[in-house]
Amino acid sequence: MKYRSGYIAITGRPNVGKSTLMNHLLDYKLSITSPKPQTTRRSVMGIFSDDEAQIIFLDTPGLIEPKYHLQKAMIRQIQNAIQDADALVYIVDDRLFGETGGILLTDEINRLKDLNHSGKPAILVINKIDLVVKDKLLPVIDACNAAYPFQSIIPVSAKKNDGLTDLMIELKKVLPLHQPYYDQEILTDFPERFFVAELIREQIFYYYKEEIPYSTEVQVNEFIERDGRKDYISAVIFVERDSQKGILIGRQGKALKDIGTRSRKAIEHFLGRPVFLELHVKVSKDWRKDDSKLRQFGY
Ligand code: GDP
Ligand code: MG
Repeated sequence: MKYRSGYIAITGRPNVGKSTLMNHLLDYKLSITSPKPQTTRRSVMGIFSDDEAQIIFLDTPGLIEPKYHLQKAMIRQIQNAIQDADALVYIVDDRLFGETGGILLTDEINRLKDLNHSGKPAILVINKIDLVVKDKLLPVIDACNAAYPFQSIIPVSAKKNDGLTDLMIELKKVLPLHQPYYDQEILTDFPERFFVAELIREQIFYYYKEEIPYSTEVQVNEFIERDGRKDYISAVIFVERDSQKGILIGRQGKALKDIGTRSRKAIEHFLGRPVFLELHVKVSKDWRKDDSKLRQFGY
């Protein structure tokens, strides 16, 4: 038995491309992404399987100094993912090549050390190399090598699928010899309703400016499969204040209607079947700062 199987936590600062990387490694859009930081709030599990290995990825929220209670819950998500992991992927991006790249690298390594105090094997992924001039790559790789005992350092462009084969090879090397944990056909063991809520949140991240996406939480209340008819899904979008409710719904309900249409299309694409989606907006006052409300939301 030469089969390898294990858990890999994907970590790094907000917006470096953690979710994009997992999606492209799985060749399936499982984890929501957006140009805005802190899109991912809960770890998302995605399973890769082939003849040689099964890799169970955990895409985690970005590393931040927690201010809100919600952010503390997000940090716990990262810590739990690492605790369960056989190895971790730490991602940095093209910002390392800017003028303040040296300072940033020191900061990144400190974060990594803090995170990985149990000393699990760490692979450094330098993402977004599509934005970097090629001959700048080597000196930065050298600096990273000098700064931390990485298992390996792989430059990639997650978005352009560049370097991902090399990364896969390195990932398989760090996995223990083990039978597959999951059926080879399975892409995740998270429930469909989790992804449905995430897809609605993703549309909100794209549609609204500033604080609205961050003040929003989505809960799927009903998900009913009906014989010979479309699935019925009812979801509630929670905001923190009355004023946000108005913005979310928009003039004559137009914004909410748009969100509904876009979300439904994304959900249908994800599930591969038509659905009927109903959205409601409710105020859950200051939920991000309220531990009991966070618990109700499952954080
Ligand atoms: P996360 O917060 O670390 O999960 O980052 P996301 O995966 O949500 O990506 C953040 C932003 O970076 C999105 O706008 C992505 O499209 C973009 N991005 C991710 N990977 C790449 C890449 O390889 N090249 C470029 N140019 N952009 C990327
Ligand atoms: Mg993410």
